[in-house]
Amino acid sequence: MNRQSLRLSFEFFPPKTAEGQEKLMHTVDALGTLAPEFFSVTYGAGGSTRSNTRDAVLAIRDKGHAVAPHLSFGNDDQDTLLALLQEYRDAGIRRIVALRGDLPSGMADSSRLVYARDLVAFIRQHFGEHFHLEVAAYPEIHPDAPGYLADVRFLKGKFDAGANSGITQYFYNAEAYAQFIETCAKEGITQPIVPGIMPITNAANLMRFSDNCGADIPRWLRYRLQDLKDDPEALKAYGVEVVTRLCERLIELGAPGLHFYTMNQAEPTTTLVKALGLR
Ligand code: FAD
Repeated sequence: MNRQSLRLSFEFFPPKTAEGQEKLMHTVDALGTLAPEFFSVTYGAGGSTRSNTRDAVLAIRDKGHAVAPHLSFGNDDQDTLLALLQEYRDAGIRRIVALRGDLPSGMADSSRLVYARDLVAFIRQHFGEHFHLEVAAYPEIHPDAPGYLADVRFLKGKFDAGANSGITQYFYNAEAYAQFIETCAKEGITQPIVPGIMPITNAANLMRFSDNCGADIPRWLRYRLQDLKDDPEALKAYGVEVVTRLCERLIELGAPGLHFYTMNQAEPTTTLVKALGLR
């Protein structure tokens, strides 16, 4: 595979303030020079960031970039979701990351969550093939899944409902991805599944985040990060080394692209892309 043509995509969260929005636009300019296939903007639990996500999406589009809003039913009814999707369609958006999402903290009624498969089917029913639909995949298996194979089969259900490609939760064990891709293929999944990459810049944040979303930080990595937690420069350098090695292995395994969780910062992702010789 020609490294220069590997698909890159960059994920942001929607800023809450005008200052954050301005900072994000600088990040978009910097990462835009790496020729990503698209940017994406996350969607808060329960639809809590609906307008912030939409504003960030439209601002990135105004800069001439392809951009994919993340979307889930959250607490919204079908009409609210339809209106938002129509707005995206009319704004020239061609890609959506379709999710179940989680409930806002404090809400425990998981029966209100709509599976991503149903959102995919809903979008296909109302918008035909207009949108390229991305769905989430979990090489280390989603925390609510009843089992490994069950989770892979639910992923297959999302593709059968009309999703075009997958993006994974981040992980630091390349072999988990290798196993997962092999199992997906055995279960009849033919669509590309792009690994999600989380740069390592802050040990405490990474640990907290990972505990919340079920991403595994291997014991050896946890200990090394613990050793380096008071030396930000050394931690950053070590993070680049570990994540570069991970990406090298993923490329070797035939990963169809890399999706970076940028945390709205340009520098960590740019360093990795350059270290890998991808642009
Ligand atoms: P689903 O695919 O619906 O699966 C959810 C769980 O239900 C899984 O455990 C699955 O095994 C199980 N399941 C699926 N179908 C069935 C069924 N028929 N019966 C029983 N069990 C079933 N979260 C946000 O809040 N905002 C974001 O913007 C966001 N972006 C993300 C982007 C990526 C690339 C990834 C990997 C995750 C993202 N998340 C986001 C997190 C995601 O919303 C959570 O992980 C959520 O808990 C699951 O969403 P899903 O779309 O994977 O759900």
